[in-house]
Amino acid sequence: MIEKEQDGVRYVAFESLAAQQGLDALVTTRHGGVSTGHFATLNLGGRTGDEREAVRTNRARAAGVIHAAPTWLTFGQQVHGARVSVVANENRGDVFEETDALVTNAALVPLVILTADCAAIFLFDPVQRAVGIAHAGWRGTVARIAQRTVVTMRDRFGSNPSDVIAGIGPSIGPCCYEVGREVIDAATEAFEGRVEEVLVEPDMASAGSFRASVNEDKKHFDLWRANELVLLDAGVREERIETSRLCTACRTDVFYSHRAEHGNTGRFGGIVMLHEPVLESHHR
Ligand SMILES: [Zn+2]
Repeated sequence: MIEKEQDGVRYVAFESLAAQQGLDALVTTRHGGVSTGHFATLNLGGRTGDEREAVRTNRARAAGVIHAAPTWLTFGQQVHGARVSVVANENRGDVFEETDALVTNAALVPLVILTADCAAIFLFDPVQRAVGIAHAGWRGTVARIAQRTVVTMRDRFGSNPSDVIAGIGPSIGPCCYEVGREVIDAATEAFEGRVEEVLVEPDMASAGSFRASVNEDKKHFDLWRANELVLLDAGVREERIETSRLCTACRTDVFYSHRAEHGNTGRFGGIVMLHEPVLESHHR
């Protein structure tokens, strides 16, 4: 990912999406806001226990990066479900109930997913000019929320999945994401035949320090590979999927991590927004 800074707000962007015309797609970090303590400093999460006024200021700063008004920011309530909501122009600024993924083909409607270990999955269709963003923790991942989001873009906007450019944002990595029996069972069912790609032994994971012994009730879940598989099943082409491979738990200096910070932390944001069509259109 590309590291950027604007007016003190530090964020990261996918190389593939940053190269697209008429699109903003970024992931904020914890730097550039006014929150203090556990929430220092750019906490965008309103249900974290942080001061409301600080969160309001932080959201305005994040919106400023894409030259959006803070009132434009459009959210899902995020319940670790798999509902995808379609956002029309008149829904700009709403919070969609029980929604973990948002799609739109309207310009200047910034879609936001808040995370602190879960992955934000970015989707952009440059042909039909539509975007989507999904919140994928383990529950959303095994429920194939990224695939559901691609299907919704196809059904509502005519998107061909093979045109879609996808980004899998920073999340807790296979290095740090130890899971127990509930997740192991769910992932085994959801990724039948490929489970060895998504559930790894701790000592097989890419980094960090682990117990040496193999415990059948403890594995590490690879959210990145799992969501790549879900996107491939949706028809997204492998070369059009960019995975950030930034682990939030390893990098609490940059991101918030619910697990590494024992729940006392803020939320960073994945934000995607289409621009107004340019005068010289790019119809193919
Ligand atoms: Zn890690």
